[in-house]
Amino acid sequence: MSHKFIIMGPQASGKGTQGKLLAEKFNIPRISTGDIFRKEIAEKTEIGKLVDEYLKSGKLVPDHITSSIAKKRLSKMDCKKGFILDGYPRNLDQALFLDSITPIDKVILVNISDKEAIKRISNRRVCIDCGSSYNLISKPPKKKGICDKCGGKLVLRSDDYPDAIAKRLEIYRKQSRPMLRFYDKKNILIKIQGMQSIGDVYSDILEKLKIK
Ligand code: AMP
Repeated sequence: MSHKFIIMGPQASGKGTQGKLLAEKFNIPRISTGDIFRKEIAEKTEIGKLVDEYLKSGKLVPDHITSSIAKKRLSKMDCKKGFILDGYPRNLDQALFLDSITPIDKVILVNISDKEAIKRISNRRVCIDCGSSYNLISKPPKKKGICDKCGGKLVLRSDDYPDAIAKRLEIYRKQSRPMLRFYDKKNILIKIQGMQSIGDVYSDILEKLKIK
């Protein structure tokens, strides 16, 4: 069986953490369009320049750019047996495009309330040098403001400021609804309660991924 998964959920639902755990367990790449964009921006590539403003303001990057980036990444050899997509697709058009290039086995929805999302995001910090992420409550660095791994400075991501968060949550709710219906109709959507510990969310996912 292939392991072609999508992990979805509002910002700070913990889907990134779960995606990494699943990627390790199934030995598949975790593909985050957000990470790809941030890398392009950091490397000041042509694509980076194109998408910089969208990420800064919390707006979605236009579908034609995002989907071509995703298609290119999915065509690599390491995706043959499976992958876990995080942050893509984000709306019905992207889901339809994805459907035209590859079948998907399961869509994992990790859900949390908006209130919980805002609380978690305001505690999030990222290392400006190596990109490692922390949470001041659930995963604090050993030394305040300093990355455990490389000693870099920890900052609030530019799209984690309150205005950008509110915009992203609103966009997420509006755009994900038709996409969730699309996957639900295909009978591949599994829903997970995200307001529990990392370990409990993970075991719920594994339990529900079992082929019935
Ligand atoms: P993320 O790390 O998934 O929260 O993504 C960060 C930002 O990258 C988003 O706020 C968007 O500006 C952009 N982005 C990432 N994935 C997509 C996507 N599938 N469609 C459009 N924009 C995206």
